[in-house]
Amino acid sequence: MRVCMIGTGYVGLVTGTCFAEIGHEVICIDKDPKKIEKLLSGVMPIYEPGLKELVESNIQAKRLLFSTKIEDAAEFDATFYFIAVGTPQSETDGSADLTYVYTAAEDAAKAIKAKGNGTAFEVFVTKSTVPVGTSREIAKIVGKHLSESRFAVASNPEFMREGAAIEDFLNPDRVVVGSRSEKARALLEELYRPLTRQGRPLVVTSTVETAEMIKYAANTFLATKISFINDLARLCEKVGADVEELSLGMGLDKRIGDKFLKAGPGYGGSCFPKDTAALIKTARDFGSPVEIVEATTRVNDNHKARMIDKIKAAFGGSLKGKKIAILGLAFKAKTDDMRDSPSLTIVPSLLDQGAELTAFDPIAADNARAMFGKKLNFADSVAETVKGADGAVVITEWDEFRKANWRVLAKSMRHPLLIDLRNLFTLQDAAVMGMDYISLGRDAVATNGKDG
Ligand code: NAD
Repeated sequence: MRVCMIGTGYVGLVTGTCFAEIGHEVICIDKDPKKIEKLLSGVMPIYEPGLKELVESNIQAKRLLFSTKIEDAAEFDATFYFIAVGTPQSETDGSADLTYVYTAAEDAAKAIKAKGNGTAFEVFVTKSTVPVGTSREIAKIVGKHLSESRFAVASNPEFMREGAAIEDFLNPDRVVVGSRSEKARALLEELYRPLTRQGRPLVVTSTVETAEMIKYAANTFLATKISFINDLARLCEKVGADVEELSLGMGLDKRIGDKFLKAGPGYGGSCFPKDTAALIKTARDFGSPVEIVEATTRVNDNHKARMIDKIKAAFGGSLKGKKIAILGLAFKAKTDDMRDSPSLTIVPSLLDQGAELTAFDPIAADNARAMFGKKLNFADSVAETVKGADGAVVITEWDEFRKANWRVLAKSMRHPLLIDLRNLFTLQDAAVMGMDYISLGRDAVATNGKDG
């Protein structure tokens, strides 16, 4: 089947490439000429494990094309027009900014109309995370250019995780598609047949609204789990409990599950913050507030602020003149994505309080440099980052930090202090690292003068 993917970012590039990988013919469109130029010359505009190889092999197999022009997709006779453009949080009221989505839909409709071929049938599919009601709006926009019998709208929300996106596409827990059009639902079922044939479940909803809601419900639920465990982590510290053991004891209960039950510096990334805000806005607009989600965002904001207090307390109440190593800037490991990363809250605050920071991120450093500019020093390895520091703070759970030889690194620091906001180490491991070790929801470990 022929697929056009509009928007070639994290979602569009991965899903477009994966549709090609499962045998479809795909054209990926992006209005950013630099992105398309890079892709055509074999350079990936984003970091995602395994992506480069998959893009290359599918280009070679002639199943994957890239262009800046939506007219090329009309020429290509695509059946599906997937909209995978950004839906950032609007600056005013927390709602999702749908400008890119509507522009993409209208441009595609115009290009299809200009191409002619009146017997064809196209499905406009929202892959972007869009508030309930958006697909209906898209139908109105497309309907200004194409006759009603010529097209249908559908929703096919994306659940991939950055860093494991290819695996998530090829082995999804489920695929969700929703449309009022039987024809569109049948076409989407056919499109996903290579996955469903292998036993991957397909959830078909009879309205686009349900599919749109499923995405927000899933993401805000996961965000809620994170806020819940972060709340409990702080309580654990007060009552002498261990949040890692708590997560284990809770998460093994199949009704609860162990995923997204890991204490950390607060959720960030391109999805949870904006999706929680957008659902809150939609729910308020409809007079049916989602109070749990409202609490989730409040807890997350407070928690990030408390991470700063925690760091400050570890340095004896003042950060002035302290040399601090920052380990990790991306919002999570295995991605270069900096959007809404907890580091964007923590780093500026430490700088404002007079700390001198040197940071290292194995993959996100270039994106981080563009955001922090000269205010932040960058190093190229853990060893270089922590050398001579008064302490180190782990913000992202990169394996590099777990694997580092802390017994050796401790000796190169002015003060061997590790503030681990990801609980990378067991307390037993921390006890032999030769560091003062402060983590989340657990007892602190002191070096007691030991050098490991
Ligand atoms: P992104 O910013 O990485 O990519 C969006 C791309 O769309 C950009 O390259 C931009 O140039 C392009 N674009 C914008 N308008 C266009 C137009 N009219 N024509 C062609 N290209 C256009 O965004 P992303 O992270 O891929 O997210 C896309 C959507 O998917 C969002 O709604 C997001 O919430 C959702 N989503 C993201 C993830 C994730 O992990 N990143 C997961 C699930 C869902």
